[in-house]
Amino acid sequence: MKFAPILLAGLAAACAPPASQAQNPQPAATAKAPAGLQLDFPVACQIGATCEVQNYVDRDPGPGVQDYRCGSNTYEAHGGVDIRVPDMAAQAAGVEVLAAAPGRVARLRDGVPDISVTVRGKAALQGQDCGNGIVIDHGNAWETQYCHLAQGSLKVKVGDQVAAGTPIARIGLSGNTEYPHLHLTVRKDGAMVDPSAPEGACDPARNGPGLWSPPAAQAMAYKSGAVLNTGFAGAPVGMAAIEAGGVAGPTSASALVAYVRAINLHGGDVQELTLKGPGGEELVSSTQPALDRAKAQYFMMAGKKAQANGWPPGRYVATYTVRRGGKVVISRTFETTL
Ligand SMILES: [Zn+2]
Repeated sequence: MKFAPILLAGLAAACAPPASQAQNPQPAATAKAPAGLQLDFPVACQIGATCEVQNYVDRDPGPGVQDYRCGSNTYEAHGGVDIRVPDMAAQAAGVEVLAAAPGRVARLRDGVPDISVTVRGKAALQGQDCGNGIVIDHGNAWETQYCHLAQGSLKVKVGDQVAAGTPIARIGLSGNTEYPHLHLTVRKDGAMVDPSAPEGACDPARNGPGLWSPPAAQAMAYKSGAVLNTGFAGAPVGMAAIEAGGVAGPTSASALVAYVRAINLHGGDVQELTLKGPGGEELVSSTQPALDRAKAQYFMMAGKKAQANGWPPGRYVATYTVRRGGKVVISRTFETTL
């Protein structure tokens, strides 16, 4: 197998959002991975609670996409791992990006505004797809690159020595991205390496840690779909409101809407969202048609209009399920009290 080295042009490595498949061709190259680099989880968040893995490296050298498990948790030519926080409210509250391994800060960029590429436009990026970024040199020709950092949040300067776990910046929305996340690229001798599976082709049974430390590998255990957001609103909401965060909750006098945003669903998946009242009675249930193809993200809601005499006080429980081939693969229950 031939590995095409990626020439480093400053902080050019890109991270396009899943909704925008267009991307400059970047070889999905993987270098042989000599021992010697171990990566800690690079974000101060908890997968499954305050963040999720949105994308892995695209291992398919052609126009198709395959993550290291031969799944679809990636997009064309994606050259890193994307760790996503639920919304801009979480980003604004501050989520630290951590050095994945000890090393020396080799390069960085700051000054790129935290504005979604859907608003700013790709032309305005002027090649700064990484946005605000940091490259750490770990020695032996290993380096890690951290992209889409918050403007003004960089805590290090070129030449600084950092330990694994050192906070180096905060997650932002700079560069080629539509949502707040960290894009992490790992390189050896200038060639991109998939940290989850440095060698060989994709493998549905792959279960090793790759370059990750045991705790990081455990945290990043592969998921075929995940729930990124759940909540209740007092009026119908859309994806943009969920992305912004801080959605106003329901009151006894308002409408009652439950919502969910899931990521990395598969074609054929069937989603159902059911809302029950304080007595366990079903208020509403909504089922989406089977997905026509894999979805990087999908938003759905189910709700009822305001009631003439208001909602009776008590617990309102929503249950979201995803069925794949008739089997429940995701189930999440969440509730609110009125
Ligand atoms: Zn990315």
